[in-house]
Amino acid sequence: MLSKTENIERFGETVSAMALAKEILWINPKGMENQFSSQITQKDIDLAEARLQRFAPYIRKVFPETQKSGGVIESPLKEIPKMQKQLTKLLGVEHTGTLLLKCDSHLPVSGSIKARGGIHEVLKFAEDVALKEGKITLEDNYEIFTEDSFKEMFSRYSVAVGSTGNLGLSIGIISAKLGFQVFVHMSADARQWKKDLLREKGATVIEYQDSYQKAVAEGRKAAEGNTMCHFVDDEGSLDLFMGYATAGRRLAAQLAEKKVIVDEEHPLFIYIPCGVGGAPGGVSYGIKKIFGEHAHCFFAEPTHAPCMALGMITGLHDEISVEDIGLDGKTAADGLAVGRPSRLVGKTLETLIDGISTIDDEKLYGYLKALADTEDIWIEPSACATFDTIARVLKNAEYLSMYHLGDKIKKATHILWATGGSMVPIDEMQQYYNKATLFSDR
Ligand SMILES: *Cc1c(COP(=O)(O)O)cnc(C)c1O
Repeated sequence: MLSKTENIERFGETVSAMALAKEILWINPKGMENQFSSQITQKDIDLAEARLQRFAPYIRKVFPETQKSGGVIESPLKEIPKMQKQLTKLLGVEHTGTLLLKCDSHLPVSGSIKARGGIHEVLKFAEDVALKEGKITLEDNYEIFTEDSFKEMFSRYSVAVGSTGNLGLSIGIISAKLGFQVFVHMSADARQWKKDLLREKGATVIEYQDSYQKAVAEGRKAAEGNTMCHFVDDEGSLDLFMGYATAGRRLAAQLAEKKVIVDEEHPLFIYIPCGVGGAPGGVSYGIKKIFGEHAHCFFAEPTHAPCMALGMITGLHDEISVEDIGLDGKTAADGLAVGRPSRLVGKTLETLIDGISTIDDEKLYGYLKALADTEDIWIEPSACATFDTIARVLKNAEYLSMYHLGDKIKKATHILWATGGSMVPIDEMQQYYNKATLFSDR
């Protein structure tokens, strides 16, 4: 194993800056290749979508907030013209073209992007169990999952997960609803209200005064050797990935509805906050499957936990952690407090992630406040990590020329993916808001 100094020296300028917790924008030199993994096809993603459709009658029944969407867990895609103006003012770069906010912060059931992957994985487990026990066929109306005999069956099984908070919330809520025993292993970053809420829903919460990795490892260990326990592996699960990837086709439909064109002349830019990489990786994969080279996908991470950037730049993926370059992994963006990237995502998206930016923690509150003040949309600090990425990409001459975006950039659509926030208690949200100093004092 190399020492911290050796690691930093070996990987050049960008990693040196990252080791000092400086903000960076890394452009993926392989981003033009757009190579898809032969392991994950559109067919696989469609199978996940079909499963979510089968469960829609059940979801509609047990989560009445999904009534309007017919039991489909989906979020609005919103214009944010006042925020667009504000961002132009704050960052000194005009966002010509269209700016949209994808409000996964307001996804029904669990209020974060984890409602996509997490709920899909638990539904798949439930379906597998019910099929194996001869309780259903794929043609049945899945409202049947509300019956007591299903709850009794599932109570013999358990689900385990390690999380910084939001994944635990998603897994806990859906698992408890189906009747599974559920064990959520929470890292030190997890907020108290998330643990309280989970316990209230009937989940067993196990707390660690340690990092996310530790929580995941403990969850894995507890599930090991227990054939009745399903472990949701945030560091490499394909079922999570597929759930996230269904966002691609859903987004395409929403864009079409808004008459937003995406083609050679009208590029699409997506900006998503990144923790272990599963959510932004799966969503980006689904989007690139639909829009190919016309879509540009950027991730954003905290300066103290830039694990995906480090894995991608070094090519070491999950074989290097931010601690290896001397960073502490500590961040106010609790959903992004991850020191080592997914073993699945970096490799799978090696040529599909177009770039990664990092952001200082203090700035998150400023963007949180700006969005609340201008649009009355409230999202959590983690979800604000991308808000300056657009300006930095637009100012990046290297990127624009690499993709011949000169004139086309004016016709681009930019989507900020808001990843969480609607379940944050009001007083907690007020505290975040009050921490904003960056822009309010100017
Ligand atoms: C989990 C999460 C992310 C990032 O997802 P990963 O799969 O960990 O990369 C971003 N924002 C919020 C609010 C999250 O909860």
